[in-house]
Amino acid sequence: MAEAAGSAVSIVIPCYNEAKVFPHLREALASLMESLESDWDLEIVLVDDGSHDDTWEHICSYAADDDRIRGIALSRNFSHQNALSCGYQFATGDAIVCMDADLQDPPEVITEMLGKWREGADVVYAVRESREGESVFKRWTAAAFYRIARALGAEHLKADSGDFRLMSRRALDALLSMPEYHRFIRGMVGWIGFKTSTVRYRRKPRKAGETKYTLRKMLRFASDAIVSFSILPLRLAYLAAVGSCLFVLAYLVYVVAMHWAFGASLVPGWTSLLLVVTVFGGMNLLCVGIMGEYLGRTYEQTKGRPLYFVRDN
Ligand code: UDP
Ligand code: MG
Repeated sequence: MAEAAGSAVSIVIPCYNEAKVFPHLREALASLMESLESDWDLEIVLVDDGSHDDTWEHICSYAADDDRIRGIALSRNFSHQNALSCGYQFATGDAIVCMDADLQDPPEVITEMLGKWREGADVVYAVRESREGESVFKRWTAAAFYRIARALGAEHLKADSGDFRLMSRRALDALLSMPEYHRFIRGMVGWIGFKTSTVRYRRKPRKAGETKYTLRKMLRFASDAIVSFSILPLRLAYLAAVGSCLFVLAYLVYVVAMHWAFGASLVPGWTSLLLVVTVFGGMNLLCVGIMGEYLGRTYEQTKGRPLYFVRDN
């Protein structure tokens, strides 16, 4: 249900090597807090995800100046999704908003999200109408990623929405009750259900510094999205196995028929032999690889390790 004015709102911001952007972030948060403080009790949870620059020093001095700021430092870099999970666990608000530190997600949109929450939404997605200042490669891969992930089984994933969203306390509690080790949070949020709503916004360029999502991190993120939401790749491997068995059977019938009908021997078929060996060898390896992805994740999940460790807070 929608809450009355005066409710507590938490804003969770994971930060990794964001010292360059921090002064801009502080400025933007100051004006956001000014515009919201008459209606809402604010709390800002800044999670330092094992930065190597002065991000933690910035967070500490900000928290010393303003008691609405809460800083948490993780013991090392645990990844954006884990840092966000940490922020979510520490947030105490009735409504919880997550945003990036780099101001690509404009804080003004939060006012609109709060309006939707008051109207009764449990999850308010911010959907990107456009992405300014990002490379063509990033925009294309991002657009393709949402479509492929949905086609492969993450059907609850909201297209073109990142982790910039508002969640009600009960929706967040549902999310936090899921013990997944490989967390693809935006897919998990879609999966929990509840009443959703959408606000549209233009994604701005990064205010300062560079992206912390390297190609390697993006690929790992994409594989988490698919493997943790779908067993379709396993089914495809199974279908490929069935298909190849049928092919082998048909080929066997052909060889025997040729032999009986024409007395023809297929010994000269070196090319076809090589083709069969390489194609089936490749397919075998691929299927083992796909199974390995799932097995590896099952192994990591069964270890039951915590998602992060806190160094300071
Ligand atoms: N981030 C993090 N840990 C990481 C990588 C990123 O906490 O290992 C934070 C980062 O500081 C930023 C947010 O996650 O606040 C999104 O990262 P970034 O803006 O670099 O990603 P992009 O917007 O380029 O996809
Ligand atoms: Mg960014």
